[in-house]
Order: sequence, then C-alpha cells, then structure tokens
Amino acid sequence: MATKVAETQAGGGRFVLGPGDPGDCFTPEDFSEQHRLIAQTAEQFATQEVVPRIDELEHQNFDVTRALLKKAAELGLTAVDIPEAYGGLGLDFVSSTIVYDRIAKYASFSVTFGGHTGIGMLPILYFGTEEQKRKYLPKLAASDWVGAYALSESGSGSDALAARARAELSPDGKHYLLNGEKMWITNAGFADLFTVFAQVQGDKFTAFLVEKSFPGVSTGAEEKKMGIKGSSTRPLILNDARVPVENVLGEIGRGHIIAFNILNVGRFKLGAGCAGGARNTLAEAIAYAKQRRAFGRTLAEFPLVAQMLAGMAIGIYACESAVYRTVGLIDNRLAGIDKTAPEAGTAIRKALEECAVECSIVKVFGSEMLDRAVDANVQIHGGYGFVQEYAAERAYRDSRVNRIFEGTNEINRLLIPGQLLRRAMKGELPLLAEVQRTTEELMSGAGAGAGSDSGPWAAETAQAEGVRKLGLLLAGAAFQKYREALEKEQEILAGLADLISITYLLQSAILRARKHGGAAAPVMAAMTRALIAEQMDRAEAIAHLLLPRLAEGDALRAQAAMARRLLKRELSDTIAVRREIARAVLEAGRYPLG
Ligand SMILES: Cc1cc2nc3c(=O)[nH]c(=O)nc-3n(C[C@H](O)[C@H](O)[C@H](O)COP(=O)(O)OP(=O)(O)OC[C@H]3O[C@@H](n4cnc5c(N)ncnc54)[C@H](O)[C@@H]3O)c2cc1C
Repeated sequence: MATKVAETQAGGGRFVLGPGDPGDCFTPEDFSEQHRLIAQTAEQFATQEVVPRIDELEHQNFDVTRALLKKAAELGLTAVDIPEAYGGLGLDFVSSTIVYDRIAKYASFSVTFGGHTGIGMLPILYFGTEEQKRKYLPKLAASDWVGAYALSESGSGSDALAARARAELSPDGKHYLLNGEKMWITNAGFADLFTVFAQVQGDKFTAFLVEKSFPGVSTGAEEKKMGIKGSSTRPLILNDARVPVENVLGEIGRGHIIAFNILNVGRFKLGAGCAGGARNTLAEAIAYAKQRRAFGRTLAEFPLVAQMLAGMAIGIYACESAVYRTVGLIDNRLAGIDKTAPEAGTAIRKALEECAVECSIVKVFGSEMLDRAVDANVQIHGGYGFVQEYAAERAYRDSRVNRIFEGTNEINRLLIPGQLLRRAMKGELPLLAEVQRTTEELMSGAGAGAGSDSGPWAAETAQAEGVRKLGLLLAGAAFQKYREALEKEQEILAGLADLISITYLLQSAILRARKHGGAAAPVMAAMTRALIAEQMDRAEAIAHLLLPRLAEGDALRAQAAMARRLLKRELSDTIAVRREIARAVLEAGRYPLG
C-alpha cells in the first residue's frame, strides 16, 4: 500500500530547491479506506479503553498499562510496522503514523506506546539479524514483551555518543559484560527488552539487545516528573550484565548509525502525536468555551477566545500537512524495500537518513505547536485551567517534555541546516548551486516570487518562495562570512533552521490546499492563508535578527532591501480570516478537517 509520490520529490531536503508539485505531496485527504479504518480503530481504542483509565494510569498502575498494550496488540495497533513474517501486519508508514496521531488522547500512554512500538521495536526490525527478529519481534508485536530504548546517561543526553557505559568481551568470548547506568529510560519500570548503547573497548559505540532477565540487569526508582506521570521513566542499571554475543545489534562500533536513525523515526512520530494531541486539546477547549458563560454570553462568542481557537486549528493544520507530506516521502523510499530481506536494514536506514531534515522540522514545529495549544487551552479554561480537576492542567504539564526528548529542539534546530549541508557535500542535493543561483538572481534585481504563475494559489506560492529564497540568500551570506566558524554561530544556524522550516510548512500547506482546498474546503483555504500571514511575520523577524549579524553598511542595506522584496505582501484582514476559521471550528465542535 505504497503512497504515490513522484521520484523528483522523494529525496529528503529537496523542498529547498523549489515550491513542489501538489501531485507529489501526500496529504490526509489521500488516506485510503484502510488508512481511515486504522484511524478509526486507534481513535476508538484511545477513547474507549485508555481515557477511562487515566486515573489509574496517572497513579502508575503499570498492570493497567500492560493490559492496554496487550489490548492494542489484539487490535493490531502495535504491529503495524512489523512484517507478517514476524507476527505483524506489515503495513505502510502512513498507517503507523496514523496510529501515533490518532492514539494521542492521553500523553502518558502515547509516550509508553511510542517507547514500545517505535524506539523499542524498530531497532530490531531495521538492524536486527534474522535470528534476532524471529526471537523478539513476534513477542513485541503481540505486546507479550514490552520494548525500551536506553541511549541517554546522566552525563550524556544530547551528547549521546559520549556515553560511559562500557561492554567487555568475557574471557570465553561468549558474552559481553555491560557496566554503567542509563538514565531517563521510558518504559523501564515494566519493559522486558532494552536496546542498550555501550562502548566496546572504550570507544566503539555499540548497540546490544538486553533482556530484563539477564543477570546483572536492574532498574532504579521511578523519576518524579513534571508531567507524563502515567509513563514509566527509570534508570537502567547494568552491573556486569551478561549479554550473549549474539545479542549485539548491528556492528561493533557502528551503534551511532542505529541511534541516530531510530531517533529520526522517533522525532517524526512525536510530531504526528503532537498533531493528534493538539486536535484533542482543541476539542476540549471548544467544549469548554461553548458551555462556560461570562457577561451573559458563552466564552465562544468572545472574539479573543475565538482567535485562540482559530490559532490552535491553524497550528494543527500546518503540523499535519508537514507530517503527512513527510510520511509520503518516507513511504515512497520504503515502498520497494522487502523488509524481510537481509539487506533491508541498509536500505531503510538510507531512506530515514534522507528524510532527517523533514523529521527534525516536524518534531520542532509539532512540539512547539502543541505547547501553544495546551497553553491556550489553559487560558480558555481560566482559573479552572490551573487546577487539577480539569484535563487542561495535566495536558499543559504533559506537553513540555516534547521539546526535550527525541533530541532537544535546540539540537534539532542545529541538525536542520547541518543535515542539508551534509547531503549537499555528499552530492545528494544541489544545495550550493541553488544558493548561488538564487543569490545571483536576487543581486540582478530579479527573483522575488514564483515567477509568472497566475493560478489561484500563485500569490501564496510566491510568498512561500520568498521565504525559501530568503533562507538561501542568508545561508549563502552566513557561509561566506563565517565559513568553518559558522558552527559556532548557533543563533544564525537556528534562524536558518526556522526559515527552512517555515518554507517546508508553507509549501506543505499550500500544496495540500492546491490539491484539496478548492471551493469545497473553504476552511482549508482560510487556514492556509492565515498560516502564511503568521509565518511571513515570523520570517521577517528572523531576517531582522540575522541580517545585521551577516553584513554591515551598504551591504547590509542591500541585503535588507532584498529581504523586504522577498517578503513583500499585501496587508489583508487576518482577523476576519481567523474569525471565519473559528466559526468553522465551533460549528464542527472539533478540528474541522478529517
Ligand atoms: C520523560 C523523559 C523520557 C525520556 N526517555 C528516554 C528514553 O526512553 N531513552 C533515552 O535514551 N533517553 C530518554 N530521555 C532522555 C532525553 O532524550 C534527554 O533528556 C535529552 O536528549 C536531553 O539530554 P539531557 O537531559 O542530558 O540535556 P543536555 O544535553 O544536558 O541539554 C541541556 C540543555 O542544553 C542544550 N544543549 C545541549 N547541547 C547543546 C549544543 N551542542 N548546542 C546548543 N544547546 C545545547 C539543550 O538543548 C538543553 O536545552 C528521556 C527524557 C525524559 C525527560
């Protein structure tokens, strides 16, 4: 069930080369019947099975957690990525993304579910030997066993390769003895199998499959967390842990390949979960705003409240447009791969690596979008949003961790330009030629906008093009000024990352609206236009921040003029557009699409 995405768009990072084509862009409106069925199953499971048990889960009754994982397995929800040969369903990546998106009604369970089916299971699927897959995947897919991923340590989170846990081969050559302590391990309280990273012979970073029952393996106390209290987070203690040599995952000294590629998937799925979480938050906010009265009216009737609801909907729209465009790219790359073939690991790794930029964009935008949504929900709830009686308070705390795990948002921002440059240096993306072409074009006085297009979305496409070209222009200027020292200019790199991300978000929203947002979907068109207005302002603020750092005097004035030209736009009544979105949201009683 591969999604149809043309080859031209399939390589990750290619969106920096042009506006894209609607036919190449996968969207939620392109879901097949089977996708819709999966969405319904995941949503029903979360609403009918997870939500009623929130109290028990918040008190860390992990028997309930395990029973829910088992129930999810019976519905096939934990086995979507796993090939039939290993007891799974072997569906496409769109399907597993839909599950993460639609199951997200209670953050703690989403984190547990992601720890098990994502970072817990996928290292074996993508990098395991045939024996390892046959031994572990059926148990994990059925949730008879629960998986976990142990990369971080007390002294190394972002700097994961600096891990101190070590692994020494036993004198008889049959086991590795692992020593050290992993920290912050999701599901550690009840997991049966951990993917653990440790240094062999001091500096060969390597992954191991470590069963909870192996001698020398134990867990520490539960962390007392700010949020996602219903998930388990504990240290994993390795004290001469005896791990059979056949449980080395991948190659000795090549653990970083596993660590980083699995994080790519984790990031991407986190972004999908944020879209789902925000949809749920919006529904709560609407319900409250419709029933709570003040000054003789419902809150929903106040334009300032309505503006908050519209803002939430616009964020969700942007996030899901980027999420499903990205999954289309990934699926297209994975479509021809037989996941059971011995060489599948390398092919899958390459596909994920290619889309690393898009995965980081989705993670950063999704986590920040959800934070804004839960904040608005608390605000709409007023004092009731600040007390534990209402779910708004819990969701506000639960959301915060998304900006920290799966690579902090700072690290992900640094990765975005870094990964693009890496692909360019490897000859996989003609980025430098595009920077040069754009800069020359702009210097010559041409180049603002998308060209001579005059279709219904031409003006909006031209605006997204303006941001794209601004990003390229500033990237070129930054590289020319700082060269190797650019690495130390993190503020510039983060600004470039945001311009790159805005480009991707705007393109994804516009391509979706061009594909599906005709007269039949006025709210989609309105959300696209409101998103563009909001993000163009953001792009302008970034330009104002970066330009004086990159040039001075006449050069600064010239570049600022170019930036103004690229971001030039007619002022439009965005208040009216957002009111229109709020009306649609209130009428639907939920996020108005899908
Ligand atoms: C609830 C929870 C669950 C988790 N689950 C797991 C799990 O299942 N498995 C696992 O392996 N890990 C897990 N983690 C760990 C998580 O991935 C790390 O906390 C995260 O990567 C950040 O690492 P750190 O905490 O060491 O922070 P640090 O790396 O010390 O970062 C602290 C701050 O410094 C910034 N910073 C660090 N380096 C740079 C840099 N080079 N440039 C700019 N800024 C920088 C960071 O962005 C951050 O703002 C979990 C964490 C939490 C809180």
